[in-house]
Amino acid sequence: MANPHKHAEFIVEACTEDHHRNKTAARASFNGLLQEAPSGVSTSIANALSQQLIYQMQLLEPGKFVSFEDLNVDLDSAAFPYVQASARDALARAIAARGEVMQVNSSYRTVAQQMLLYNDRFNNSNPVAPPGASNHQTGLAIDIEDPRGWDPFLIEQGWEPLGGDPPHFDYLGDDVVDFRATAILAFQKLWNLNNPSAAIDEDGSFGPGTESALLQTPATGFPIAPWADSPRPLRLSTPRMEGADVFALQEKLKAAGFAIAPDGELGPKTAEAIQEFQKKKGLEVTGIATADLVNQIG
Ligand SMILES: [Zn+2]
Repeated sequence: MANPHKHAEFIVEACTEDHHRNKTAARASFNGLLQEAPSGVSTSIANALSQQLIYQMQLLEPGKFVSFEDLNVDLDSAAFPYVQASARDALARAIAARGEVMQVNSSYRTVAQQMLLYNDRFNNSNPVAPPGASNHQTGLAIDIEDPRGWDPFLIEQGWEPLGGDPPHFDYLGDDVVDFRATAILAFQKLWNLNNPSAAIDEDGSFGPGTESALLQTPATGFPIAPWADSPRPLRLSTPRMEGADVFALQEKLKAAGFAIAPDGELGPKTAEAIQEFQKKKGLEVTGIATADLVNQIG
């Protein structure tokens, strides 16, 4: 396998500082292009776009890029809990061996989040890798609390601490690929789907055309989502699902009499309404709004 630590463009980023920034920066209401994002803003302003990018990566690499939200973890609300399947299995073993909750501050960082950090790099004393060059785009990275307490359990399972960046671990075990090219390719495919008259190369590398396109991408996501043909199941998750599909679901729930103020973000109230609807209809109460369920609402 390619060792992510030996990637030519790799920069040791300041993971603690990035986390601090996302914790303290305001989650501004922002619906502009990535290039218009205010300096110092939380990268969560691009969560709707980030969810589209992760989904597109999963379409490109079926079964290989998975959530670890169901493990014994306490996730920061801005952390996308996605790693490659073998890294997830190793993480599960490490957490089970210690028998404690793992506090995860960050894991997968999409190229949209990385673009926001990179575009703001001159206002930041910390090093920032360009999109597609961060270890947080490999699908093999986590930043955690109590890193030295976790060292023996993680190292035993192939997760290695990164020198000079205390909260950061990379999975260096078998059966993985470097997802950084996949991350760029996913963006390029989504861009081309939505901008056929301004198509860019689908080459998986972050060149000037791709950088320009990414800067001109709406933080709230593309009009045509990667789940356009096959709607994603909607449920309460961390980070919360956001997008036009969530908004449409909320409008239907509201029209059906539920006390919902549609905002395009699937929080606890929307999840409760889904459950209530299922209960009312005598369906299994899963809290998951599949396409079929959404059609039943209205
Ligand atoms: Zn990190």
